[in-house]
Amino acid sequence: MSTLLHTVSMLTGEDVRWIDEGYVIFDEGKFLKIASGKPMDSELEQADHVIDGTGKWLFPGFVNTHGHAGMSLLRGYSDDLPLDRWLQEKMWPFEAKLDKASVKAARNLAMVEMIRSGTTTFLEMYHLFMNEFAEDIDRVGLRATLMRSMIGLCSEDEQVEKLKEATDFAKTWHNQAGSRIKTMLAPHAPYTCPPTFIERIVEEAIHLDVPIHMHLAETRKEVREHIQQYHLHPLEHLEKMGVLEEARWVFAHGVHLNEEHIDLLGRYQLAISHNPISNLKLGSGVAPISRMLQKGVKVGIGTDSVASNNTLDMIEEMRMAAFIHKGIEEDPILIPVETAIEMATKSGADILEHDHVGMIKEGYEADFILLDASAAHLQPKAHPLSHLVYAAKGSDVTDMYVKGQALMRNKELLTLDEEKIKYDANQEFRRIQSLI
Ligand SMILES: [Zn+2]
Repeated sequence: MSTLLHTVSMLTGEDVRWIDEGYVIFDEGKFLKIASGKPMDSELEQADHVIDGTGKWLFPGFVNTHGHAGMSLLRGYSDDLPLDRWLQEKMWPFEAKLDKASVKAARNLAMVEMIRSGTTTFLEMYHLFMNEFAEDIDRVGLRATLMRSMIGLCSEDEQVEKLKEATDFAKTWHNQAGSRIKTMLAPHAPYTCPPTFIERIVEEAIHLDVPIHMHLAETRKEVREHIQQYHLHPLEHLEKMGVLEEARWVFAHGVHLNEEHIDLLGRYQLAISHNPISNLKLGSGVAPISRMLQKGVKVGIGTDSVASNNTLDMIEEMRMAAFIHKGIEEDPILIPVETAIEMATKSGADILEHDHVGMIKEGYEADFILLDASAAHLQPKAHPLSHLVYAAKGSDVTDMYVKGQALMRNKELLTLDEEKIKYDANQEFRRIQSLI
């Protein structure tokens, strides 16, 4: 079933070309044609569906490279605490009470929010009910990289059990849902996983040929304690263990890294998910992203969970990524508009290993969003790329397609029951809160 979307302004290709008026044709989930001007009569006749994009801007969907959708009931539950106390005193006790119904409510809420704000692909790192989430994503139509997260502060038997669950999940779901779902293995962090456990996880990841995702150097305290215990920075420790060269790594945060560490990222082709808002809110610091980009490190953008953000709005995240490095380094040239967009789209897709995702280009997956370009804050219309980064809001997104399937049309969600999901989220939050 081919679809032709015409009279739309759009961002296309690697060279970040803006077309003021053009059209796209997609079929079987892929873009067949991207062109400027008006479609030919024969093209209009041949298309099974024709959509008028008048007044809208077409952009690649956003790729959120780090998050925990399962924690979405924790939005606003605890703010303004340091990361270790926030986790130990607030997050983990609440999460200990979560069950299948509450985690499902949390994830549905996250999916609604992601679709509404333009995220077509996301990473989920979580330890509960991952199979159920994969089934839901298959049905809802989003694209995702999923992993059963592992904390190794437990007996060896429990470690073995967690690793088996994680590898079974990775095997079962990798490249499923029409290849919309990819998987990784995920040791939670160096401070929650002993080196021997990390080594075992890396072995399995190499065997399964999937990448590894892990929180790294998020806070100064965590790095200091690692150095006290092992006399090495966590990244240097991983290098010494010999696990960096053998596997493909995507690290979340990477806040406390020096120049030598950035060289290591480059040498081993390690990727970083930059989560500026979460890092600011938890007082963790600012990752040296501009230095990483200058040294050719692949960087994507992530929101982390709504417990530390507190939204999943990738436009806001992208804007923060563009602002913060200019401010910190007193250099307005850093992270220009094109770089911010690339990190939030194509680089993110590359990091999550979704091929041919993240650009409006022939042969690429038809994952895209439309924005209502009529809002006052998007006038005058002369600078759409600038507006996307510096002026737009997630709520400007009106339509979403993933692999050619519409998930939202004119602000109406097509694969999720939003009213029920919002009701359930409130019910489940109150129920879990009453158990603590
Ligand atoms: Zn995280």
